[in-house]
Amino acid sequence: MKKITIAIDGYSSTGKSTVAKQLAEYLDYIYVDTGAMYRAISLYALQSEILSTNKFDKKALLDTLPNIDIAFIKKDIKSKPEMFLNGTNVETEIRTMYVSDFVSSVAAIPEVRRKLVAIQQQMGLEKGIVMDGRDIGTVVFPKAELKIFMNAKAEVRANRRYKELLEKGEDVTYAAILKNVQDRDLMDTTREDSPLVKAQDAIEIDNSEINQEDQFHIILQLTKDRIAGRV
Ligand code: C5P
Repeated sequence: MKKITIAIDGYSSTGKSTVAKQLAEYLDYIYVDTGAMYRAISLYALQSEILSTNKFDKKALLDTLPNIDIAFIKKDIKSKPEMFLNGTNVETEIRTMYVSDFVSSVAAIPEVRRKLVAIQQQMGLEKGIVMDGRDIGTVVFPKAELKIFMNAKAEVRANRRYKELLEKGEDVTYAAILKNVQDRDLMDTTREDSPLVKAQDAIEIDNSEINQEDQFHIILQLTKDRIAGRV
């Protein structure tokens, strides 16, 4: 069967990763969560004290950028890929609010984007890939056969994230998450380099009132149509 490239972009906490993962599993495609890559670089900056609440030494980050090694590694063939930063598994740490609060400032740096976009494009050379992020359909794979742009009301997104983090045992408040979601929306849509914007040929889905399963079936049908060259 013909393999295609699927780009899933959209606002924070719209469930991009969940549907991208489901789709990749169903199609036996590679799945890449590009947010994890920006999160890993941010974690590095935080751990090495290049970045903190009142300091961001961008030059130091740029100087050290070539030495930051990030890789998705699977424990075994069936398990999902986890993010490793310079050889250490950071899959859990990169998802914390601590990292979420800083990631959009790191993601706004052009040199960081260039490094990560090059890796992402390399991963997609052979197609058969589902990649989610903010600039996949616009910058990373502008020729992707299927582009989805996901949105939902900020309150709905914050509520989903809140439940997720509570389940993971994080000590967070709904208000802090809503603020983080709104701050990231603003920073991601207004940055100069590759802002979050819907690609002209992307299909927009607002999932405020669509459940996960229905959404998966909608996107799967779109995928099948594209593979068959129906649309
Ligand atoms: O997808 P996730 O919410 O984990 O992404 C974290 C942050 O990484 C986003 O808020 C955005 O600032 C940045 N990002 C990006 N471009 C991507 C993926 C993520 O700028 N392709």
